[in-house]
Amino acid sequence: MDKIKIEDLEVFAYHGVYPEENENGQNFYINATLYLQTREAGKSDNLTLSVHYGEVCHFMNDFMKQHTFQLIETVAERMAEAVLLQFPLIEVLQLEIRKPSAPIGLPFASVSVEIERAWHTAYIAIGSNMGDKQQYIEQAIEKIKKHPLLNVISVSKLLVTKPYGGVEQEDFLNGAMEIRTLLLPEELLDFLHEIEQQAGRERLIHWGPRTLDLDIIFYDNLVYDSETLTIPHADMHNREFVLIPMNDIAPYKRHAVLGKTVHQMLNELQELSRN
Ligand code: ADP
Ligand code: MG
Repeated sequence: MDKIKIEDLEVFAYHGVYPEENENGQNFYINATLYLQTREAGKSDNLTLSVHYGEVCHFMNDFMKQHTFQLIETVAERMAEAVLLQFPLIEVLQLEIRKPSAPIGLPFASVSVEIERAWHTAYIAIGSNMGDKQQYIEQAIEKIKKHPLLNVISVSKLLVTKPYGGVEQEDFLNGAMEIRTLLLPEELLDFLHEIEQQAGRERLIHWGPRTLDLDIIFYDNLVYDSETLTIPHADMHNREFVLIPMNDIAPYKRHAVLGKTVHQMLNELQELSRN
């Protein structure tokens, strides 16, 4: 991806573990690499299609001066988040905070922390089959929209489906949404679980009735497995109630393991159920 690089922006600020650092201050140096598409700005010579690096420098300078943190890890973490929220055209940000005057009592050149943070695209499947299903789903979408580190890009049409997994229960209402987020996969899952709990969801029977079910279907092109999370969602390709709404918003989206698009997976599943 294209990048804009800012080197050694000098900022006098007060971050540090020692009280004298917070009182006297010292120079910090910032290196930032902004990853974004510059082609359209480059072709048209139009600044509004790119990111104004002067504004980014002033924003970082103000941020460093307005806050006092103990750790340069925290300076980097908070500032990366603030920059990505303030300048949404930046897709990935590499940020290094250097502190050459750190009082370690030994002669040394410098110390720094460097991190990379990014906007991620994820797809979430949403389902309910108890009580006022439409309302559970709409409330969940509203809560997702309100999260500061998350933007909703699109929401599918909602679909009524028969229950799955052999448990006798009411019909489901299902949908899917595309989001752009700064949350990492496990953080996103925790947030979705919080919303499920607020909707009064209890995990009683596997595949049993639920007020609200929120699953992560895809997260970028990530392939990830842990005790609590599998991405892409392990069973999505077998679930028409996931694939139909997904096909509504992202038919071209390709499964990173199976190598098939959503549209293909849906066609193949429907073909199977016809035979
Ligand atoms: P299901 O969604 O399959 O009907 P649950 O909602 O009860 O079942 O989920 C059970 C567990 O599945 C969750 O506690 C979660 O840790 C785990 N899980 C694994 N991968 C995912 C994923 N991609 N999205 C959501 N939950 C997942
Ligand atoms: Mg679930």
